[in-house]
Amino acid sequence: MERHKIRLLADISAVTAETRGTEETLKRIVDLVAKRFHVDVCSVYLLNEAEELELKATIGLRQPSVGAIRMKKAEGLTGLVLEKMAPLLVVDPPSHERYKHFAGSGEETYQTFLGLPLAFHQQVLGVLVIQTVERDAVSEADIPVFSTIAGQIAATLAYGGALNDLQKFAGKDGPRPASGKEEQKRPRRSGIVRGIGVSRGVAEGRALYLRGTIGFEQIHPAQSRDPGLELQRLDDAFRATRQEMANLIEDATGLVHQEQAILEAHQMFLSDKTFRNDIRKRIHQAYTAESALKHVVGQYVERFRAMEDPYLRERSSDVEDIGRRVLRHLLGSETEPVQAFREATILIGTDISPMDLVRLRNEQLKGVVLSRGGRTSHSVILAKSFEIPMVIGASDLFEFIQEGDHLIVDGMSGLVFDDPPEVIVDEYRRLRNEAEAEFKRLDLLREERARTADGTEIQLGANIGLLSDLDLVKKYGADHIGLYRTEFPFLARRDFPSEEEQAILYEKIVVAAENRPVTIRTLDVGGDKFLSYLDFPKEQNPYLGWRSIRVSLDMDEIFRTQIRAILRVSPLGDVRIMFPMITSVKEVQRVMVILAEEKEVLRSRGVAYDEKIPAGIMVEVPAAVRILKYLLNRVDFVSIGTNDLVQYILAVDRNNEKVASLYDPLHPAVIEVIAEIVALCRLKGKTVTICGEAASNPVCGYLFVAMGADRLSMNAAAIPVMKDFLRKVSLKEAKATLERIKTMDDTDAISEHMAAVIADIQREETYPARAVHR
Ligand code: PEP
Ligand code: MG
Repeated sequence: MERHKIRLLADISAVTAETRGTEETLKRIVDLVAKRFHVDVCSVYLLNEAEELELKATIGLRQPSVGAIRMKKAEGLTGLVLEKMAPLLVVDPPSHERYKHFAGSGEETYQTFLGLPLAFHQQVLGVLVIQTVERDAVSEADIPVFSTIAGQIAATLAYGGALNDLQKFAGKDGPRPASGKEEQKRPRRSGIVRGIGVSRGVAEGRALYLRGTIGFEQIHPAQSRDPGLELQRLDDAFRATRQEMANLIEDATGLVHQEQAILEAHQMFLSDKTFRNDIRKRIHQAYTAESALKHVVGQYVERFRAMEDPYLRERSSDVEDIGRRVLRHLLGSETEPVQAFREATILIGTDISPMDLVRLRNEQLKGVVLSRGGRTSHSVILAKSFEIPMVIGASDLFEFIQEGDHLIVDGMSGLVFDDPPEVIVDEYRRLRNEAEAEFKRLDLLREERARTADGTEIQLGANIGLLSDLDLVKKYGADHIGLYRTEFPFLARRDFPSEEEQAILYEKIVVAAENRPVTIRTLDVGGDKFLSYLDFPKEQNPYLGWRSIRVSLDMDEIFRTQIRAILRVSPLGDVRIMFPMITSVKEVQRVMVILAEEKEVLRSRGVAYDEKIPAGIMVEVPAAVRILKYLLNRVDFVSIGTNDLVQYILAVDRNNEKVASLYDPLHPAVIEVIAEIVALCRLKGKTVTICGEAASNPVCGYLFVAMGADRLSMNAAAIPVMKDFLRKVSLKEAKATLERIKTMDDTDAISEHMAAVIADIQREETYPARAVHR
């Protein structure tokens, strides 16, 4: 029972995260509830501005009724639910004195009516109505379950922003700006920020701005809670900035005279009382120190820019520079990160590089919220492997979240609660407990093999990057390590590791893998993974530029060093070597020659290695797909890198939140290409693994298995869920579904069809067991 509940609650969160706007969210929620609980009608009525109950979404009643059915609170059974503020179950509704019939709605056929109030935190929002054809399909015993669902829908509506459109849940307005002409200040409020959940789990902690990524663009006019405190913060920041400059001037080494003069001028400006007083005045109007600073700096910049004298005009950039320095101190940029991680912490930033995430990884780092970011960026991949909940694309986060705020981050729905009320804190604690219970249930499958209901075995592998990921491999019962991203340990270093250092690290991985096959991928840097010690060119399109195998082939000695280190650990286990981002036969020929030459080097040194080490490539570029028949003759195996393959097929940058909605592995082109690769590999008898984030998504996993893929590799935490899911899948039916999908030309249609298929597969677990026949 708990399981159904948690899954439905999670699904409702997911719906909220995926959809924008009340109508679509409600439509999908009623659909979900109706399907999951096998009821004939599920409708949501919300109180509109005229205090009438208005039908907002329905499954089962005729669609034209949406928006057309309205009733006063004193009318109908639905109104009665609100009057009583309690669930109401009525068998044979027309016989009830409060029954009100709406012609054309189609509700005459239904024999049972169950209404539940939608209320959140003493705020009455509307009514959830369940109706069934059969008289006994819903009974008193079902009320607690539906009440929980109603509670979740109400919370989702209130906090998911859906009701924002109806302006039901706006916070208190801040004080009016002093002059009507000034820009409208956004109210500070406790509430929610909404983004895309990309690394599951719930995190709770204090907000900490991510240093270096925040400039004035991210600061919006915001109301402060305590002007006295803001003045103090401003004074401290000014003092720290003056000190910083004094240090720079004192340590004049490396500064030419002109630079020193500029710094001195900056210092004088910092001591200027008018400048500081202007900021103070703004703080007295209840703005935060950051937004007051931004406003005044902006005014000064404008004034300087308008001056006739070119020298003075140029001083505008000095003011900007000083402002940025003060801002950095206000945001605490000069504090050592480790000091800041004294308590449970949620990092807030525009974006975070994989390198920063590795560097800042910390016991107390509980979650990350970004205003930008891409679903399959390497920072997201790392966050998953660190099991740190992450939300990206929360574009308005800087308007609401201040450093030090208490946050709850839901890495699934993408909701970030800023200073949430106790009821939300409790709800999330409860959900966390339920998730733990679910983990325990899935953990029983750990030693079981992953197989479909009709007996086909699937090897479920883990993608790893750091040594610590090996704990997850064991915790989640991975069969193999389908992808070891060797660049991750390179990210945290100051220079390239030597052959010896790499061999020691790879040995640890292979030994800890305890006989599981380990596919070690050579360096895949560039794109969004930059090494501080490698001079990367500034590129317009880094994903189309100096990246991956191209870097390795250009940096011959580094490449050969890594290959030798990998070869050295090959006798210690089932080790395979893999080359990323191959686009031509020439590249494969070249890497195979280098591999042979480095085997020769080891042989001449008398160092042991596996002469037959399987060597494979990643197929992640459309060109490689087209020439796969030639490539396959030269390799032992392939791995399909869906993260890149999707971005290159669809021309959608995997890291760009602006086009995130276009990044979809269910695009018919992607499905066709992957099916083609799998089929060709099977024909040629080459092992094929599908990795990348899509492999952890049950919908994609289902299709991949149907295509004939028997090896998937994913973030380790996704393995138990996939195993549990595949055990309910009939391969025969999956193949039939795939054939049907292949005839569809539209991503949304495929998505919808697959959602129905997955819901059907999970139906065996749905509630109540006695289904109503439609
Ligand atoms: C991929 O592209 O799918 C892949 C697994 O490699 P990465 O995410 O490291 O680019
Ligand atoms: Mg890739």
